[in-house]
Amino acid sequence: MSKKIGFIGLGIMGKPMAKNLLKAGYSLRVYDINMEAVKEVAAAGAEQGESAKDVAEKSEIIITMLPNSPHVKQVVLGENGVLEGAKPGTILVDMSSIAPLVSQEIAAKVAQKGVIMLDAPVSGGEPKAIDGTLSIMVGGPEDAFEQVKDILLVMGASAVRVGDVGSGNTTKLANQIIVALNIAAMSEAMVLATKAGVDPEKVYQAIRGGLAGSTVLDAKVPLVLQRNFNPGFRIELHIKDLMNALDTAHEVGVPLPLTSQIMEIMQALKVDGKAKDDHGGVIQFYEKLAQVEVKKNN
Ligand code: NAD
Repeated sequence: MSKKIGFIGLGIMGKPMAKNLLKAGYSLRVYDINMEAVKEVAAAGAEQGESAKDVAEKSEIIITMLPNSPHVKQVVLGENGVLEGAKPGTILVDMSSIAPLVSQEIAAKVAQKGVIMLDAPVSGGEPKAIDGTLSIMVGGPEDAFEQVKDILLVMGASAVRVGDVGSGNTTKLANQIIVALNIAAMSEAMVLATKAGVDPEKVYQAIRGGLAGSTVLDAKVPLVLQRNFNPGFRIELHIKDLMNALDTAHEVGVPLPLTSQIMEIMQALKVDGKAKDDHGGVIQFYEKLAQVEVKKNN
């Protein structure tokens, strides 16, 4: 019989990930402070949990998919949290993107009760969460990773163990720097092409197969051309990741000159009321500077 899984955090990402586990035949007990999300996943076959503690009491593997470090600390270590309910030997897989040092801190605390933690953040966004084709980067003990690998591969196309606990989130920070700077490069280039009088859709088609082609280009340019900035991945969440990247980098003695620039661009968009736009909406910063809009020519 497959192990009983608890799933906490049913947002843009967690909801489709939980549904994919149900589709694959796993039995799930779920919890979120948003009751609507809980009801929706329960309608797909999950049991409704009453709290993080309740989910932990009735599960052997617990997955969390929450916004940031404070939420994971609260849900795992706080009152009525995972640690109050978890039995020794439980594996906690935190799939949220949080600060690597916080992953290590939480792992050390739960270890005192015999709970093993993996940090396993993901890349790929909502479409890949729905398709079950996320890229999953995992930190923590090898044997715990081997025990949950099949479960991770229901949600992801790949699950790679990169090292000890915390290293999954360090890898995710590297990922987020590359994605943010790719979006900035795409934005500068498309604004230039448009204002110089060339159809941005044709520019995209002409360059996507060459060295400038990228997953970011293919994911974001079609949405920009339709002026669709619905998230996806919200600018405010990317700010959170870049904040974690800058903090971590400064702590280990690494300057991040380009990351600090894209961070300030995202801060300007936040002031401009666009924090909840998809991060592809970064192009709006460049459009304002150049007084031009990148869109489909009818
Ligand atoms: P989200 O805000 O849509 O979902 C977070 C969920 O956590 C919400 O349903 C919220 O109600 C719940 N929650 C918050 N506090 C809680 C608590 N105390 N107890 C129980 N539930 C609580 O965020 P998301 O887009 O699903 O992202 C989740 C994580 O995945 C983040 O760390 C994000 O950076 C990362 N991520 C997101 C994407 C993306 O494209 N959205 C891609 C890769 C990684």
